[in-house]
Amino acid sequence: MLVNMRDMLNHAYENGYAVGAFDLVSLDFLQGIMDAAERCRAPVILSLAESHFDYFDFELLMPAVEAAAKRASVPVAIHLDHGASLESAIQGIRLGCNGVMVDTSQMPLSENIAATCAVIDMAHSCGVPVEGELGYVAGVEGEDAERHSGALVYTTPAEAKTYVERTNVDMLAVSIGTVHGRLKGEPELDFQRLEQINNELKIPLVIHGGTGLSDNQFQRLIANGVAKINYYTALSDAAGQGIIDNTKATLDSSYTNLVKGIAATISHEVERCIRLWGSANRAEEILASCESWSPVEHLIIYNVEQKSSASIESLMEEGLRVLSNIPGVREVFTGEAVQEGAKYRYCWLIRFAHPATIDSYRNHPAHVAFADHHFRPIAGDRISIDYI
Ligand SMILES: [Zn+2]
Repeated sequence: MLVNMRDMLNHAYENGYAVGAFDLVSLDFLQGIMDAAERCRAPVILSLAESHFDYFDFELLMPAVEAAAKRASVPVAIHLDHGASLESAIQGIRLGCNGVMVDTSQMPLSENIAATCAVIDMAHSCGVPVEGELGYVAGVEGEDAERHSGALVYTTPAEAKTYVERTNVDMLAVSIGTVHGRLKGEPELDFQRLEQINNELKIPLVIHGGTGLSDNQFQRLIANGVAKINYYTALSDAAGQGIIDNTKATLDSSYTNLVKGIAATISHEVERCIRLWGSANRAEEILASCESWSPVEHLIIYNVEQKSSASIESLMEEGLRVLSNIPGVREVFTGEAVQEGAKYRYCWLIRFAHPATIDSYRNHPAHVAFADHHFRPIAGDRISIDYI
């Protein structure tokens, strides 16, 4: 089931383990990750990186991701990884992400703080936790590295303290020597720096570029406050190798033959990580102690007196256009009763991402303007209720 990612990561932070945030690019990844989490009774984060949107249709894949999370018996969160802008974060929440990262780490500190604050104001008003990044985790080799050009910049403890105090970010990705993509040799990680950052912040820390680290390095990361580990390149490489092996094993070059067993290959590597990072068998504790994540259905049924059907239709169209764009609104339905003579002839059904959205939606200028100038003056006879 879906749970609040903030609660999930606080539990990991307080109990000395890390949750895997596995980036997925296809249904094979989704299935492999979820199978491993179920086998291990582990919490898991399904992560979708904006830098991968060339490889799949975000809007098409998200309903499958959400369905997998909802049918799971283990706690799941859905995260937008490396969002490019505030608009990306709004879109991610609309499509079902209940955690977002907007990566403005390449900006100078003051600009990074301002950009992060804008995302946090929006996301927190929808109930969604936010991951910030300070310092810069560069790329070295491979598809995930290509999108992270430039040199590695280490996070400093003093800047981290300023950044977290000013932004109120829920978790922080730090740069202490890991890289995006494939490693050449074992990297030097600055554990002393990590320890100082953790002592200053006392919030869950995040490591990007988890591929290729040794078991010991992972354990030391977790011992120093890392509660979320982003992991993709090794899964992608394992899947790619599986396809090469399938190609060699047979002359049958059909697509289904080439991707045969790939979900299981991915699942095997995910399971190794889950067990190594200590999140196996944590599902029950999290389900018992964390907020479950569920949308709110905001229902309005109403009647309209003395208006033409054309003007009612244009009211509905205007409402659909305006209300759909408010952050935290996932879906807007407007309808007319099928039965003649229904007590209430029309309805709005608006799905919010989280109960926090009830207030932020009500106070949003676009909603206030629509309700005050268009809707309420002609729909005096109405009932409005929020359901969870
Ligand atoms: Zn990353």
